[in-house]
Amino acid sequence: KLSKRLEAVTSFIPKNSVLADIGSDHAYLPCYAYLQGMIERAIAGEVVEGPYQSALDQVRRTDLSHVIDVRKGDGLEVISPNEVTCITIAGMGGTLIQTILEKGKDKLAGVQRLILQPNIGAKKVREWLLSNGWELTAEQILDDEGRIYEILVADRGDSFKPYLNNKEAGLLMGPFLSQEKNDIFIQKWTNERAHWMKIVGQLEEAPVTEANEMKKAELKAKIKLVEEE
Ligand code: SAM
Repeated sequence: KLSKRLEAVTSFIPKNSVLADIGSDHAYLPCYAYLQGMIERAIAGEVVEGPYQSALDQVRRTDLSHVIDVRKGDGLEVISPNEVTCITIAGMGGTLIQTILEKGKDKLAGVQRLILQPNIGAKKVREWLLSNGWELTAEQILDDEGRIYEILVADRGDSFKPYLNNKEAGLLMGPFLSQEKNDIFIQKWTNERAHWMKIVGQLEEAPVTEANEMKKAELKAKIKLVEEE
């Protein structure tokens, strides 16, 4: 059985996609998506030997080697332009997801949808999408076994559109998520705010240095954004 988190990621895959799942680890996501009839075929990319072998094993065990190609390599290096129509990148930090997209920009030809699930730092991912002509079209926030995850879905389009109301707050908390404001969203940002306030308190006790003052100002700005939401 697939985790609630990965199942939520797959729910955004357009029907009949050719999928690349980057950082696939056990290749659970592409195997599940195929068995559910969501995709035509898939490439599972992995850069680390252990997870790459796990992906190969899983694909063999489920008898899907004819439709799921496990490839070893860094990020989007494992695909060619116009080879896939949808890309999933899940379970990594936002900075790593951003780096993978940036380094593999030329491989995005033919891709219609990106489904990205940063464990932390979703802002970095939203910023990359905004700067690169990918319009955020849906978001989901969910709790899976006590951890909160965000899923960002982007299609080619007007990347500025989601941020017309409030760009800074939208980039930090997500334009759709901050509109919906469900219980999990409120829980997440209540926790974040408390955490930042604690650090601000510690910085107030600390020696006054330029670095500390800058950090404090940055945190206070974020606290303000969250409070205004
Ligand atoms: N996507 C799966 C999920 O969400 O459950 C696995 C997440 S796992 C925490 C992250 C995986 O990404 C690891 O298996 C790691 O080896 C792989 N990874 C990290 N950097 C990568 C890169 N630049 N290219 C491909 N895979 C990478």
